[in-house]
Amino acid sequence: MTTAAVIDHTERDPWEVALEQFDIAADKLHLDPNMRGILRECQRELIVHFPVRMADGAVKVFTGYRVQHNVSRGPGKGGIRYHPSVTLGEVKALAMWMTWKCAVVGIPYGGAKGGVVCDPKTMSNQQLETLTRRYATEIMVLIGPERDIPAPDINTNSQTMAWIMDTYSMHHGYTAPAVVTGKPLSIGGSEGRNEATARGAVYTIIEASKHLGLDLDGARVVVQGFGNAGLFSAKLMQELGASVIGVSDTGGGIVDPKGLDPAKVDAFKKEHGTVSGFMGADRITNSELLELDCDVLIPAAIENQIGEHNAPKIRARVVAEAANGPTSPEADRILFDKGIFLIPDILCNAGGVTVSYFEWVQDLQNLFWREATINARLKEVMVKSFSDVLEMSKKHKIDMRTAAYMVAVHRVAEATLTRGIYP
Ligand code: GLU
Repeated sequence: MTTAAVIDHTERDPWEVALEQFDIAADKLHLDPNMRGILRECQRELIVHFPVRMADGAVKVFTGYRVQHNVSRGPGKGGIRYHPSVTLGEVKALAMWMTWKCAVVGIPYGGAKGGVVCDPKTMSNQQLETLTRRYATEIMVLIGPERDIPAPDINTNSQTMAWIMDTYSMHHGYTAPAVVTGKPLSIGGSEGRNEATARGAVYTIIEASKHLGLDLDGARVVVQGFGNAGLFSAKLMQELGASVIGVSDTGGGIVDPKGLDPAKVDAFKKEHGTVSGFMGADRITNSELLELDCDVLIPAAIENQIGEHNAPKIRARVVAEAANGPTSPEADRILFDKGIFLIPDILCNAGGVTVSYFEWVQDLQNLFWREATINARLKEVMVKSFSDVLEMSKKHKIDMRTAAYMVAVHRVAEATLTRGIYP
């Protein structure tokens, strides 16, 4: 199960951030005001309230969301997040980011996202299954293999997807593997999906290092968040010869200038529930971790981590956003002025949804690929997308986020325009 690091939604509403990022790119593209009006809203926003009987017999009513931002380029696609601080604004932002993410890597999906307000850390497996099956039933008016395909996100995993797939299949009377991605291999999951977000991020870091002339062998890497994206990013960077000098999770951070072994830190976390306290490493806070002197900083946790307050103190050469929305627009400007090379979330973490796409294609064809094929195709997508965005940033002398948005918004606007307005 993935876990996130520091949570601070007080700083900026993610939806406001998403709109501001969009507006910056829309201005640069001189986007038609009508198109701007369409793309500034989410097409569908479903709020559900549903009862779950808890272990003590009491009935608790949970709130969940499923939002589709824009489905002009294909069915909705995006994860489902379980977290106490989930809000409609957050889910809308995440859905919009999925639209741009799918467009920037050229996969035929629109953007969607879901979330349930809950604290999975305090819930039993049985309760999580019940909650998941009921939530899946409530959002069944929107999801389906040709309509909207959920996937894991923070605090959800392949087991969660298995329950959703089973619930959907039970309601329809036949097995429908393609309704979700990120499933276990035994029921139509894909090789390589689990590591895909991190693997994709690392492909973009390799491309960035080539562009910057940065040697990754011996490079100092800091990773915020030790869930799915953070753990595998740390492991893959270590495989490249980099030294992972700091990692963190909700329990705090650890630092060791001589380098940490991500596998050992993972084993420690599995036993103690947090990386904090790992022997031989010094404890630091999540905010101190972000300010460590390093070559590559990988925020792999949650939104609102790098803002106006700490951006001036970031000392990384490259910031690679494995998380969604970790950096505010104010911080973007500060980092850009400082000459820090930022690989934006919609590009950096698109490996996850890219392999989700491969999983969906395999499910629809009932024909499964080897892991080597998956990773090679993922690499091709990430390298090409990085190059598209870098070219755009050079052409307009702009930061990589604005460049990625320009590539993505242009593609979504073109699809939306080509389809026309119904009726
Ligand atoms: N939750 C992941 C993301 O934010 C994956 C989404 C997917 O595979 O559909 O990109």
